[in-house]
Amino acid sequence: MDYESFLKELDIKLADYFNEYKDFICCKVGCSYCCEKGDYPLSDIELRYIMKGYIELDNITKQAVQNNIKNIKKGSTCPFLLDKKCSIYPFRPIICRVHGLAYFCNENIVKVPHCTNIGKNYAKVYSGEEILIEPINENLDTINILNEFITKNQFISSDSSKTTFEIRNLFDWLT
Ligand code: SF4
Ligand code: SF4
Repeated sequence: MDYESFLKELDIKLADYFNEYKDFICCKVGCSYCCEKGDYPLSDIELRYIMKGYIELDNITKQAVQNNIKNIKKGSTCPFLLDKKCSIYPFRPIICRVHGLAYFCNENIVKVPHCTNIGKNYAKVYSGEEILIEPINENLDTINILNEFITKNQFISSDSSKTTFEIRNLFDWLT
């Protein structure tokens, strides 16, 4: 299975999750808080896919992204965000597809989106310390999702403690 087909399957699963939790989710086009402050960790395969999307952009959009990359700062706005919209949306990394959902990242720890704290997703069922509903019982961290991809393709490295992918923050990939 290639990465693009894997993403199609992933998007179907995530759409089901977004639908299941729709009463607590307020994501919409033009809401870009989650793209304005972050590290955006992603792997080499995701970066290559982003670049595939970048190559397809028109020259003016490419130039705008280039300008953003020139001024990129750690923990700041993603350079692919233009006019509050993702310029490479179909090619965005896994973390951007998952972001907005609340899920168990281990038995006891629940990850909620950054925007919960500004009154957006899950805010009405978040006490400030804990979530008051049952979150998704699946670890949706990028590394887990990529491990699923590896398993599906059975290209497990000889050292089973290592994955085939390297994860770095977007800032580190681009500078
Ligand atoms: S995750 Fe939060 S900030 Fe991002 S689009 Fe959804 S509601 Fe907006
Ligand atoms: S790649 Fe797109 S969705 Fe992800 S942080 Fe950047 S602008 Fe937002």
